[in-house]
Amino acid sequence: MIMKTGDQNLVKKLNKSIVLDILQKQSPISRAQISKTTGLTKATVSSLVSELMNESFIYEIGSGESKGGRKPVMLYFNKNAGYSIGIDVGVDYILAILTDLQGNIIDQTEMTFTTSLRNEIIEKIKNTISYLSSRCPTSPYGIVGIGVGVPGITDINGTILFAPNLDWHNVALKEELEQTFNLPVVIENEANAGAHGEKVYGAGKNVSNLIYVSIGTGIGTGIILGNELYKGENGIAGEMGHISIDPNGKKCNCGNLGCWELYASESALVQQATSLSTFNENYDITLELLCAAAHEGNGEVLNLLNTIGDYIGLGITNIVNVFNPKQIIIGNRFSKLESWIANPVDRVIEQRLLPQHQQSLEVTFSHLGAYSCALGSAAFSLSNFLSHHKMSID
Ligand SMILES: [Zn+2]
Repeated sequence: MIMKTGDQNLVKKLNKSIVLDILQKQSPISRAQISKTTGLTKATVSSLVSELMNESFIYEIGSGESKGGRKPVMLYFNKNAGYSIGIDVGVDYILAILTDLQGNIIDQTEMTFTTSLRNEIIEKIKNTISYLSSRCPTSPYGIVGIGVGVPGITDINGTILFAPNLDWHNVALKEELEQTFNLPVVIENEANAGAHGEKVYGAGKNVSNLIYVSIGTGIGTGIILGNELYKGENGIAGEMGHISIDPNGKKCNCGNLGCWELYASESALVQQATSLSTFNENYDITLELLCAAAHEGNGEVLNLLNTIGDYIGLGITNIVNVFNPKQIIIGNRFSKLESWIANPVDRVIEQRLLPQHQQSLEVTFSHLGAYSCALGSAAFSLSNFLSHHKMSID
C-alpha cells in the first residue's frame, strides 16, 4: 500500500514499515528490487534504507564489477541487532530460550520443580532470565523484551488471574518482572503463546484459521482466526480443557465436573497408568516412561494411549464444530505421542464429525515440539519491539 496523500510523516512511517518487512522476509535483496516490489521510488527506498542502516537493522554486502556487469549491493536484515527471551512456564518445569530477531534459538535453559509456591517459581523465572541475559551476545539493542507463557488465564495487564493447576490467583507477574529487569514484558496464556509460535515459525505458517491444542498437565487452546489470535472479551478465550464431556464426571480444579482435560491430558494418562499391571508402586510413572513402554510394544500401555487418543479426538470434534478451522495442531508434551495417538484421533473425527467439516480439516502435530510456547512468547516481544521501531522516524 502506497499512500500519496495525507500526513507525510505517517506515510513515511508506513513506508519504512513496508521496507523493513520486506527485508525481514526476503533478504538479501537490492534497493532496486525493493523499489520494484513496493512501487516506492528509488529515492524513497534509498532514504529509508539509510535510516534503517543507521538504526543497525540492516547492513549491505557486495559491490563492484563482475563479468555480467555491476553486481548490485545486497541488503541483509541484521538478525543480531537484538535478542528476545521467551519462557514457557509449566506446572512443573521452566523452559527458557534466547532468540535472535528472526526467532533462531541462540541459547536455552530448562529445569523441573515440584513446588507450586508462587514466590519460589517466580524466583526461578528471574534466575533463568538473569542466566540468559548473561549469555546474550553484545548487540546494538541487547535484550529487547521478555515474553512469558503461563499455564493459566491472563488479562491484558499481564496479570495471571487464575492458574488452576498451580492454584495461583491474581499474580501481577508482568509488573514484577518489569520492575526487576527494566525491560518490556509480555505475559500470555501458554496455549495462546504456543499458537502464536506455530503460526509464526511452525506448522501453522501459511494457515489463517487454526486451533492449537496444548496438551500437557492440563489442556489449553490457542485460537487463531483470520490470522489473528482470538482472545475474547476479557482475554480469556480458549479454556476448552474445561469443556465438560461428562456431566456427572470427576470434579475438576476449576469447579466444573467432567472437564475434557481430566480424560485426555498428561495427568489423566499418568493417573490411569498407575492401575496397569506393568507398573508396581516402585515406578515413578512419567510421560517418558510410558513412551519407552509404548516403543517396546507394551500392550497395556498401547491400549491406554489408544483410549486417551479417543478422548482427544472427542474434544477436537467439539472444537471443529464450533470454529470450522483449517488446521488443528496438537502440541506441548503430547506432541511426543504422535505415533500412538494420531490414529485414534483421526478415527474418532472420521466417525463423529460432519463430512463438510472434514473436507478441509488437517490435524497435525506441532513442528516446534516442546518449543512452541517459548518461541511464541519470544515472538510477542520481538514484534512489539520491531513495530515500535518501524513506526519511529528520525
Ligand atoms: Zn475444569
